[in-house]
This record gives sequence, structure tokens and C-alpha cells, in this order.
Amino acid sequence: MAAFPALRAGPWPRRLLAAAGALALYAAAEWAALGHSLDGSLLEPWNAGFAVSFGLVARYGFAWLPVAAAAPLLAGWGGAEADALVVRVAAEAAACAAAAAILRRRRRERPDIGLPRTVLRLFAAALAAAAMVAVMRGAAIAAPPWQVAATGAHLLLAHLVAVLLVAPLFLVSGTPRQWLRDLGRPSVETLLQVAALSIIAWEVFGRFVNEEVHFFYLLFLPLAWIATRHGQAGTALALAAVQLAPVVTDRLSGHADHAIVELQIRLAVLAVTSLLLGAMASERRQADARMLERQTELAHFQRLNVGWEMASALAHELNQPLTAAMNYTQAAQRLIAAPGPDLERAGRAMSKSVDQIERVGDIIHGLRDFMRKGELRLARNRVREVVDDALRLVSAEANASGIALNAAGLSALPPVMADKTQIVQVLVNLIRNAVQALAGAGTPAGTVAVSGRAGDGWVELAVADNGPGLPPEVLAKLFEPFVTTRAAGMGLGLSISKSILEAHDGRLWAETLPQGGAVFRFTLPVAAAGEMADA
Ligand code: ADP
Repeated sequence: MAAFPALRAGPWPRRLLAAAGALALYAAAEWAALGHSLDGSLLEPWNAGFAVSFGLVARYGFAWLPVAAAAPLLAGWGGAEADALVVRVAAEAAACAAAAAILRRRRRERPDIGLPRTVLRLFAAALAAAAMVAVMRGAAIAAPPWQVAATGAHLLLAHLVAVLLVAPLFLVSGTPRQWLRDLGRPSVETLLQVAALSIIAWEVFGRFVNEEVHFFYLLFLPLAWIATRHGQAGTALALAAVQLAPVVTDRLSGHADHAIVELQIRLAVLAVTSLLLGAMASERRQADARMLERQTELAHFQRLNVGWEMASALAHELNQPLTAAMNYTQAAQRLIAAPGPDLERAGRAMSKSVDQIERVGDIIHGLRDFMRKGELRLARNRVREVVDDALRLVSAEANASGIALNAAGLSALPPVMADKTQIVQVLVNLIRNAVQALAGAGTPAGTVAVSGRAGDGWVELAVADNGPGLPPEVLAKLFEPFVTTRAAGMGLGLSISKSILEAHDGRLWAETLPQGGAVFRFTLPVAAAGEMADA
């Protein structure tokens, strides 16, 4: 069916192919339509040909009207009387145009019966179209009025039922490929639905139709099941299959004329109920999908927000390694420029400078991944190594202020699952905060100690200092962005550290120690044995 829109646009060969496909479909439906004599007139109660024209014109627009007119002409050529054929052609084309006008309120509108209000418009269009065919063809019959009325009523019912059962196939939004995707992989449930529909359809149309219409209402069960689980695409397919059932069984065993009208009325009720149910299910799914989209957008927005904080913090974070790199490089310059240059020491200073610059690269890469997708480069990491990296990065600043850094009891801790660059960044933030608090307060024998302990599935690390402790004015909102007591501070280090730890499923909190000083503690998940290779 994906080829059908080609009639309005696209290269001529494709247009002709699409039109030929539609004519073939009409002819097949016409062939399947069976002749039954009702109230003395020969009728085709299962004629889906008109429903095909209806669906195409309603879905793809008035460009299909010539095809809708040509189809009955070609199908009936040589069979019916010429007058009757002309009337039929005119009636079908006019009815299709009227239906399209009802369903397509704007020129380019593609009606989508995934919405309940469009389903109601489909019912109105189907009724109007069937009535037009019935009136125009009925009026052309030369017979007593009672027979004209009876034939007209049968024509109306036959066209209405065919449209309700077959046209939905053309009016479900999306291409067949999208339908298949929406329907999902064939599961046991889908197989059970198909089996239930087939068995019940056989019971209804195959075995009992010649006596009385039994068990018809059982058909509602699989249809309701399919509609609620697969939405309107599933319903349209199931209804088309239901339309096929009387054709097949009529070919096999022949239906009694008297049962047909009753069956048709019941089929109309079945189609109306199922289509409304299917539309409600589809609408609900669309609402769910929209909700999911919003949630994803919101999550992205939150990450951007964090990303923005991080970008601001970047200046804060990069300042330190870049200043250190500059200091090392200047020292190397002096050592080289001095009379009797000490190249060995200059080389050591340069390699420290390179370390700092490499760290700048790591910070930027890590942040880029985190901002783009909220991704962490998780790997199994030894706690000792992570802490050592952080201590190395802040040692120059601590030395300059005469503050001792120490770490104890870390080697015995189990490895953690973490993004190493990010956790080093957290530790650098916490240690530098402590160093700066100690330096600012001029604490004698200032010390920053990093320690750790293992819990059940997590490792808790602590960065403690013997400084002034946390200022009471920032305590309540310590982890909020832009909260700072330092003139040169941005107030971002702690909020960014908290975001990083939360992304790791960890926690960060602070306490003031009774003996004075502050301690920041955070948790990280323990890496399961064998989980990823060592970083
Ligand atoms: P910044 O370092 O830019 O001020 P942070 O978010 O890292 O931003 O820290 C916020 C505030 O928390 C600091 O300004 C300081 O007042 C307080 N703080 C953080 N760590 C300590 C500490 N170890 N001792 C005392 N105060 C601290």
C-alpha cells in the first residue's frame, strides 16, 4: 500500500503501476464478491471493491477519482447491462468524492483513524457513501417500489459493511513497515490472537451460518483483545480478515441467503465497536509515546543544566592544572636559561607540566561525554590509584601553603565501578576546598586526610581536615550551585561533585567534626568481581 501515494506525485511509470495495483485489488474484491439473491434481486453482499476505492480516495485524495470510476467499469465490462454499469460507475465515483470531502477537511489532510474523532467521521462518511450508492443505483432499477426499496436497503448495508471492514486498512496512519514495527514481533500472544480469531470466525461463518447465526458475539473477544494490544493497525488487519472469512466460507460451502442480512448487521456493529476501541488504544499509545518523549526531553534538559554548570565549572577546574603547568614550564625555562643549565631538573619540571596538561584533556573529554549523553566511562578502578592521582594534582598547592596531605587504609578496599577522571575531579575539588579553608584560616599543622571504608556493595571515602569547619551560613545549601564564601570562588565545586556522584549512584554529604574541621564523605558502588577489565 506504500506505493499508492505515488499516484499524486512521482514518476509516471510509478503512477501507472500504483493505478494498476488499485484496479487489480478492486477486481480481486469483485471476483470474491458472491452473488446472492435477496428478495428477488441478485446482490453481491461481500463486495469489497467499492471499499477499496473509498479507502484510496479518502486517504490519498481526489487524484484517485478516475481510478475509482475506471475500476467498476473494467470489472463489470461485458457482464452487466450497459445502463446499469454507467449508473454504478457514476454512483461509486460520486460516493467516493463525498466520503473524501467528509474525511479530508483540508486539502492535504491524511485522515488517521488512530484518533476517535476521525473514526466518527469515518462512520459518517461510510454511511453517506453507502446511502449515495444505494439511492443512485436503486433509482435506476425498473421494478415495483417495494422491490426498489428492498434492493436499496440491501445495497446500503452491503456497501456500509464492506467500507467499515476494509477501508480502515487504508486509513491507518503510517506505512505497512511502520505498522509491522508497531505491531511488534510475532509473540505467543499474537499467535494466540490469530488462532482465536480464526477458530471463532470459522464457527461463525463456516459451520452455523447456513442454519442460524450462532456464536457471533464471540468474535468481539479476539477483536477487543487485538484492539487493546495492537491499536488501530491491528484492528484494521483483523477486520479485513473478518471480511475475508464469509467470502472463503461462502466459496467452500455456500451461505444461505436468509442469514446474510443478519450477519451484515452484526458485522457493522462489530466493526463500529472495534474501530472505536482500536482508536482509543492508539490514542492512548500516542499519549504514552508523547509522555516518554517529554520525559526524555526533560532528562536532556536536566543534563544540559548540569552541563551548563559544568561548563562554568570548567573555568574553575581548568584554572588549577593550567596554572600549575605554567608554573612548571616557567621553572623549566629559568633552569635552562641559567648559567650552567640544570637540564635534568628542567626535564622533570617539563614532564610534570605535561601531566597537568594531559589532565586538562581528560577533564574536557570526560565532561563532553557526560554532557552529550549523560554517559560515564565506567570501569573497574582501584581506590588507591584514584586517590593517588588526585593527591598528585593538588600536592603543589598544598606544599605551597604548608599543608600536609595523607591517605591511609585505601589499598585494602575493593575496586569501585567509576569514571576515573570524574572521581579524581571530585577528590581534587574536596581536597582543594580543604586546603583553601586551612590556608585561609591559617590553621597550624593543617592536615587533609583521605580515608575509606568498605560497606555492603559500596565504598565510602572521606576527605577530612582540621580547619575551621563549615561556615554556618552555607551549611543548608552547601551543595547548591553558586554558594561560596570565598572571594575568588564560583561556588560550583560541590554542586558539580554531587552531580557526578549521583550519576554514579553514589551520595555526597558533609559533616562538621566535633574536634573542629570538616569532613566530606561520598560513596561509590563496588565493582562486581570480573566486571570489565581493569582501567
Ligand atoms: P568554591 O570552592 O568555589 O567556593 P564549592 O562549592 O567547592 O565552591 O564550596 C562552597 C563553599 O563550601 C566554600 O566557599 C566554603 O565556604 C565551603 N567549604 C567547602 N569545603 C570546605 C571545607 N573543607 N572547610 C570549610 N568550608 C568548606
